[in-house]
Amino acid sequence: MKTPGDAGRSRRSKVEAAAAAPVGDAVAFTTCYMCACRCGIKVHLREGGIRYIEGNRQHPVNRGVLCAKGAAGIMQHYSPARLTKPLLRVGPRGAGEFREIAWEEALATAAAWLASIRDSDPRKLAFFTGRDQSQALTSWWATQFGTPNYAAHGGFCSVNMAAAGFYTVGGSFWEFGEPDWEHARYFLLFGVAEDHDSNPIKIGLGKLRRRGARIVSVNPVRTGYSAIADEWVGIKPGTDGLFVFALIHELLRLGRVDLAFLVRYTNAPWLVIRDPGGAEDGLFARDERGRPLAWDARENRAVDAALPDIAPRLQGEVTLPDGRRAVPAFALLVERYLDPGFAPDAVAPRCGIAAETIHGLARELAEAAFEEEIVLDVPWTDWAGRRHERMVGRPVSMHAMRGISAHSNGFHTCRAIHVLQMLLGAVDTPGAWRYKSPFPRAIPPAVKPAGRAHEIAPGQAMPGPPLGFPTAPEDLLVDDDGVPLRIDKAFSWEAPLAAHGMMHSVIGNAWKADPYAIDTLFLYMSNMSWNSSMDTAGTIAMLTDRASGSDTYKIPRIIYADAYYSEMVAYADLVLPDTTYLERWDCISLLDRPIGSAEGPADAIRHPVVKPDRDVRPFQDVLLDLGARLGLPGMVTPDGKPRYADYAQYITQHERAPGIGLLAGWRGAEGDRIAVGAPNPRQLDAYIAHGDFWSHELPADQRYFKFANKAYLEGAARMGFVETPEPIVLHLYSEILQKFRLAAQGHGKTKPPPALRARIAAYFDPLPLWYAPFEEAAVDGEAFPLHAVTQRPMPIYHSWGSQNAWLRQIYNQNHLYLHRSLGEAMGLRDDDWVWVVSHWGRIKCPVRLVTGVNRETVWTWNAVAKRAGTWGLAPEAPESRTAFLLNHLIAEHLPKGARETLNADPVTGQAAWYDLKVRLEPVGISEAKEAAPRFPRLAAPKRLGGEVP
Ligand code: SF4
Repeated sequence: MKTPGDAGRSRRSKVEAAAAAPVGDAVAFTTCYMCACRCGIKVHLREGGIRYIEGNRQHPVNRGVLCAKGAAGIMQHYSPARLTKPLLRVGPRGAGEFREIAWEEALATAAAWLASIRDSDPRKLAFFTGRDQSQALTSWWATQFGTPNYAAHGGFCSVNMAAAGFYTVGGSFWEFGEPDWEHARYFLLFGVAEDHDSNPIKIGLGKLRRRGARIVSVNPVRTGYSAIADEWVGIKPGTDGLFVFALIHELLRLGRVDLAFLVRYTNAPWLVIRDPGGAEDGLFARDERGRPLAWDARENRAVDAALPDIAPRLQGEVTLPDGRRAVPAFALLVERYLDPGFAPDAVAPRCGIAAETIHGLARELAEAAFEEEIVLDVPWTDWAGRRHERMVGRPVSMHAMRGISAHSNGFHTCRAIHVLQMLLGAVDTPGAWRYKSPFPRAIPPAVKPAGRAHEIAPGQAMPGPPLGFPTAPEDLLVDDDGVPLRIDKAFSWEAPLAAHGMMHSVIGNAWKADPYAIDTLFLYMSNMSWNSSMDTAGTIAMLTDRASGSDTYKIPRIIYADAYYSEMVAYADLVLPDTTYLERWDCISLLDRPIGSAEGPADAIRHPVVKPDRDVRPFQDVLLDLGARLGLPGMVTPDGKPRYADYAQYITQHERAPGIGLLAGWRGAEGDRIAVGAPNPRQLDAYIAHGDFWSHELPADQRYFKFANKAYLEGAARMGFVETPEPIVLHLYSEILQKFRLAAQGHGKTKPPPALRARIAAYFDPLPLWYAPFEEAAVDGEAFPLHAVTQRPMPIYHSWGSQNAWLRQIYNQNHLYLHRSLGEAMGLRDDDWVWVVSHWGRIKCPVRLVTGVNRETVWTWNAVAKRAGTWGLAPEAPESRTAFLLNHLIAEHLPKGARETLNADPVTGQAAWYDLKVRLEPVGISEAKEAAPRFPRLAAPKRLGGEVP
């Protein structure tokens, strides 16, 4: 007899059988590109079309986990906004009037424009890319072209984070490091939205939760990861540095710092010369071989600080044999942060955090670090040959991202977090934040930016890459008068350590011809006329402005490559349509932003899983084709023929140095080498057979203390990750910053121009410092009492996601979120409209009242709004009617002072998106409930939802 249970079981088994049934006739493995995490995916295909995407359980990044964005990749691929043919502008810029052209005409046109530049002055090409994942190629291409004017999007994203890490610990958060998810017992998360990163951090948070580790999130906004934290610290934007200093103050006051770690692995004991006003003040005292000195307490004399087993003093002034006075770097640190101005009670009102909360967090950090230490029974040997029977670690992990980074004080705040980690002994030890292979690297990495006057010549490649890491004023790209040599002014006195370039200043500078005029702006997937620019309207005006009395645009030519009809397309003169990520080869290379983990290096590819059904080409193929047409070195054979048929061939055959290419797996003629080996013509087959990725597991004894681990460093040197197996000493104190400050004080040959001397002297402090964010300091706090920031929602990454047919069902509208008490005091209710006013602009938008936000902060989701006529959306779609951007409120420059100053960090040039201050004003009863400003609808080809035939 059948029972009700039988019926239920039968239904379930039918559902399970249906779920298990093949959804297609083939499965291809590749790498997701719906955000920057680069998870492994399985794409189910039927009759050559995409049916379904799932996570690849074997992939080291996501272990099968797939997020909403990744699953919705199918809709990205079939987006109605996809470009279909090369386009040549026929109407005025911004009118969206184009003529479809054949690829040959498109490539010949681009090549002719670029050839005339290269033959006269290669600097007149500004080549900038957005969040692309082929920077190993694009950077090399710019180098071969001979222009220093190249960068990707990092300058307006999170270069503060990356640069502070590279100049302090030889790695950084996110792509260059990760928490020890298996052993951390305390996790401190700063300023992280749901995108940097996504699946890996979700997987990690799940592990922490299951093990009962404590999670504390410091963020003005309680969304996403903050919502599952044990404690949410709703800090005021831009005050994180002060908060960290208060923690440091408490740890120092309580004597709860890891002195043994500091002595062994950092420059804390190195002697700093004290000679106020002198040319060596603040530099390390060195011996005749240039090696830093420490003061050995047992021998009571200065010794080589690198000698193992010395007993260096950490406090007190000493007199060197030559009579100079010096003090250990650690003593300077103690002197600074024990200042009562950094006590929790002193900083609490400024940070909007109760002093008792800060006291409590400092106590918790110390307890987790020193009373719950992690001991792994794994013997290892340090750089000096000393064998350690166990690995002992501090189970405090930290992670920080854009919320810290996108402030004008972000570089120092990021450095402050790394200093806090060092004081706790929580860098690459069990339980702590760990380097992702191939990091750590030298501090900073040894490459310097090329682009000085003698390095640029017509028809010539540059001798090195355009981006790098200056270590002294002499490395800057400035002329004898201190005038910048790059169009974005990166690596100038305006932004000396601009390691990722400054894409956000390119259009403004090109428009002003400051420091010089360019001819062609070549952009790849960067939506600069919309959500990727501060002051969108101003940017559009610059893109369309003509020289007076002339038909010529001030930026004469714009070439744009993208897969979609974004807001930027209408402002291009020549449009090169790209494929989707499922239609092309790609390379996630160790030479670019790696996907390795703390357990070992990894890289990956994408291979075409479907054929384009449109007349589009992969941008990487196009770049190599253009390079061959231009005869760029490395892109042509000796007889002038294209060296590479396509990007796939380049990926396997190109060598950056002998034996080192874009992919590290299956190298060598037999495919049996890793990291270093001859090109392998069957390398891509090996990747495809292995799910499109390669990974290498480090032996257990190499997985921690990598900066001082002999076996790791020797292996890393063999694999080309570091130049030598020398230990990497962490920079608690930055002598590099001090060199720039000395220049500002008038020392050395290369000095800042007089107008910038005070600025360099103030912000190039060798120890982290805090100052009020620039915009906040410049505007009237009573007129603009609120901070305004954006967050990225889990299902949307940049502007790509918000046009996706599935994802826009989750969000096609954003609101301004404000604290309920503030809203109620203003008489506001959910979905009421307000004007948001900054010193620069006004926007109108709907509100929602919440409690999970700092009371002096308002926020919204980023990049939901779209301009009418773009992205294949209906003209009256909510995205272009009621959704809004904060960008209209943000100025590229600070409110007028004595000189025009970029709204950016003074050390790295990072765009200060989150320094914005605003006020709210009521919307009149008769005013339309529509977002403002609204821009005229952009014309678009009919096929993309527009009206142009
Ligand atoms: S986190 Fe999501 S969108 Fe990002 S790469 Fe992974 S699956 Fe794709």
